[in-house]
Amino acid sequence: MKKVLITGAAGFLGSHLCDRFIKEGYYVIAMDNLITGDLKNIEHLFPLEQFEFQHHDVSKFVHIPGKLDYILHFASPASPIDYLKIPIETLKVGSLGTLNLLGLAKEKNARILVASTSEVYGDPLVHPQSEEYYGNVSPIGPRGVYDEAKRFMESITMAYHRFHNVDTRIVRIFNTYGSRMRLNDGRVVPAFMGQALRGEDLTVFGDGSQTRSFCYIDDQVEGIYRLLKSDYTDPVNIGNPHETTIKEFAEEIIKLTGTDQKIIYKPLPKDDPLQRQPDISKAKEILGWQPQVSRAEGIKKVYEYFKSLSPEELQKKEH
Ligand code: NAD
Ligand code: UDP
Repeated sequence: MKKVLITGAAGFLGSHLCDRFIKEGYYVIAMDNLITGDLKNIEHLFPLEQFEFQHHDVSKFVHIPGKLDYILHFASPASPIDYLKIPIETLKVGSLGTLNLLGLAKEKNARILVASTSEVYGDPLVHPQSEEYYGNVSPIGPRGVYDEAKRFMESITMAYHRFHNVDTRIVRIFNTYGSRMRLNDGRVVPAFMGQALRGEDLTVFGDGSQTRSFCYIDDQVEGIYRLLKSDYTDPVNIGNPHETTIKEFAEEIIKLTGTDQKIIYKPLPKDDPLQRQPDISKAKEILGWQPQVSRAEGIKKVYEYFKSLSPEELQKKEH
């Protein structure tokens, strides 16, 4: 049985990846220090013999006995309010954490895929963003702790690939949503869902003209899986190119939830990118991948998920 280590396994993306690799017949070692994740996301896997959980901070030395075939490094705070609250941990997991896992990949002769982000493009001056674009990031701005950690992650991954011949993959993930996102993690999908379900007005930051392109979790997991299995070692964008302004998105949520809330406007956070849309030509060509789930469909599914949360869960607010 092939063995895979998934870091950040108790988080949103990590837990869905655990499900996928279990389904594919792998032995899954799930690692997490639970700083932003929740064991609830993977507790359904605990009874399985092909699954184990290790409570560990990957910024400290990582030891796995025996053989290891694959590593998926997804540990990192990922929402702006999380990484603004824990900036040093964010920098450490992107740098020291990545270094430790590349070292482990080298020792075990394992293939490693690291989770990078559209944030490496910063507030982009090129639109849509293709992998060739170098980005527009402020190293000293509040989001720099996340963006620069991920840029360092990419650099050291390529260095291990070139210098030590480690078998590496880099995915640049664009805004992804789905079940198991923390209701109060501050990202726009759970924020709007929570507000709609509590009967509150929806908080749009700035004038709402900034854009994002939202990818449904199942599409994202499929893209990551295909990239891991490919032999392509340069970074690949995985995201849904269907772009929307945040104001239009708030209006869509109000329409879907059938509520009579209004939109209220709050200040735009510093360095919040004004536009974002992935160019996915590479993923199409190399992986034969493109998103299958429209925003309308995906948002409906995620609304059903948030509706099923307990009344106590729903009271957890982000701002
Ligand atoms: P998340 O917060 O739900 O999950 C992150 C997980 O990592 C959490 O369970 C957390 O406890 C764990 N973690 C953090 N630091 C750790 C450490 N030092 N040691 C061990 N575990 C640690 O976030 P997510 O949305 O699932 O993001 C997962 C990964 O995907 C992150 O690396 C993130 O940067 C990347 N990503 C996500 C998106 C997205 O839209 N969701 C976009 C771009 C990149
Ligand atoms: N946003 C918003 N209201 C909220 C939360 C977020 O208008 O309650 C905006 C945010 O300013 C950004 C966009 O929605 O322009 C996406 O934010 P998110 O934190 O989800 O992701 P990121 O900024 O990392 O792309």
